Amino acid sequence: MNNNLIMDAHLDLAMNALEWNRDLKQPVSKIRERENGLTDKLDRAKGLVSLPELRKGNIGLVVATQIARVVDQHSSLPGWNSPEQAWAQSQGQLAWYKAMEDQNEMILITDMLSLKNHIALWENANIAAEDKPVGYILSLEGADSLIDLSYLEKAYVNGLRALGPAHYGPGRYANGTGMTGPLKSLGIQLLKEMDHLNMILDVTHLTDEAFWQALSVFKGTIWASHHNCRSLVDHQRQLNDDQIKALIERGAVIGGSLDVWMLTNNWKRGVSDPIKNGVPLESIIDHFDHICQIAGNSDHVAIGSDLDGMYGKEQAPYDLETIADVQSLNKLLAIRGYQSDDIQKILHGNWLRIISNNWHKN
Ligand SMILES: [Zn+2]
Repeated sequence: MNNNLIMDAHLDLAMNALEWNRDLKQPVSKIRERENGLTDKLDRAKGLVSLPELRKGNIGLVVATQIARVVDQHSSLPGWNSPEQAWAQSQGQLAWYKAMEDQNEMILITDMLSLKNHIALWENANIAAEDKPVGYILSLEGADSLIDLSYLEKAYVNGLRALGPAHYGPGRYANGTGMTGPLKSLGIQLLKEMDHLNMILDVTHLTDEAFWQALSVFKGTIWASHHNCRSLVDHQRQLNDDQIKALIERGAVIGGSLDVWMLTNNWKRGVSDPIKNGVPLESIIDHFDHICQIAGNSDHVAIGSDLDGMYGKEQAPYDLETIADVQSLNKLLAIRGYQSDDIQKILHGNWLRIISNNWHKN
């Protein structure tokens, strides 16, 4: 196994391409230059993610999202006025991923064969990183865009392999972060259909009630793609210790998020500052440690950075200039006493284990 290979299980690449109008084939410096002077979004000229930076950081495999919310007229969240529009948005995102494949920038990973071939490619030291496409496993964040359950099957045929029913606020299948309440009846049917298709359930963003309900309804492979610990930074968006224990019992893996408000207490969006608040990349290791202590091993933590997930450098650990710097976790984990085997599990091995276990069933 390539010693430094990193898998990042949560990046909204297509959202950045289409809604932030970022050409992710370019280096981050070029994308920032292009955004200088723009004020339409807080994170303009502060992005950290692009395909060259992923390759530079040896982040050869990612879980890449499709994401499109449906909102009613009273919602303060961005979104579409109907499921059909949201579906079309998600299909535009898919079209962007396909165009990246055509350029050999990315490659879709859907099964054991494509996964094995991809890992072998990234292990091949004779091929320069610049010549390696970034592998992506397709996931849907928030299920609103599935017009009805027949669209889950269409999405599966298009390569979708993981799904988180909820995002922020109200959802057609499940309410999300900041809300309460169980899964909608559509959401229960969705989980059963996902089981039928052997898809992976992402519990990220579920309400507490829906989290526990999902664990009992859904029988298959579970992950929490981008999720930190509530006992360290208190918010419903984070996992409490009972939830962490239950995920460990299910053999799940939890991806540490690098959105700084999830790493430090009392963060105020647009006001706080990663340097003044003292939040380096190493902060995520406190969350890893916490989960490893509960588990008694390092089999359940990994990376789900969510970098450029509607925020940029203004809300990322201050020692990250681009996503390539996530590679320094290698060294930081060693300094914190993690052995080489454990570090490899955290950087990629834990994700690969549960994905392989799941796909062997196909
Ligand atoms: Zn998210």
